[in-house]
Amino acid sequence: MGDIAHLRSLLGEHTDFPKKGIVFLDIFPILRDPVAFETLITHFVHHLTSVTIPQHGKRIDVIVGLDARGFLLGPIIALRLGAAFVPVRKQGKLPGVCKSAVYEKEYGSDVFEMQADAIKPGSNVVVVDDLIATGGSASAAGDLIKQQGGITLEYLFVIGLKFLNGKSKLDAAAYSMIEVDD
Ligand code: IMP
Repeated sequence: MGDIAHLRSLLGEHTDFPKKGIVFLDIFPILRDPVAFETLITHFVHHLTSVTIPQHGKRIDVIVGLDARGFLLGPIIALRLGAAFVPVRKQGKLPGVCKSAVYEKEYGSDVFEMQADAIKPGSNVVVVDDLIATGGSASAAGDLIKQQGGITLEYLFVIGLKFLNGKSKLDAAAYSMIEVDD
């Protein structure tokens, strides 16, 4: 079995979580297996160094991780690249002056925040999260990066729900390691 197929086989599937009708895909079984976790991180770092950086001809200055599972992946990738790590959190969690962006959820809207001095203008940024569904949260992160004058080179996800076409909401290319079709 190839590496990606192996990672996919480890994903948890939880029917009716967090509410009825939703099948929740869980990356935590990958994180519980040190070899699989290492494979996942190495795959992302290899993608960034062999595809993203040569394609743009730019270094990556900042990895932005989304609340909350992006916090488990982003800092490791950032350290491997010698880049900064910046968190995007739900409203009211970050201290100091923050920039904010509203995004739509299935029912109503939510607000993401980033510390106002977190990204220097002109910085090259990559966004990391566990999963893209509608693309609302990743697109709000892109908005926060733009508000600070950062340039988003790419969005990285472990899982992409292809049928929801969330990537069409984003202002840069998106790469999902595991594409789920239905
Ligand atoms: P979106 O904003 O609709 O693209 O939803 C993506 C956000 O919801 C990400 O932060 C995910 O962590 C979370 N999410 C939605 N569905 C799942 C799932 O099945 N597993 C894990 N996270 C999910």
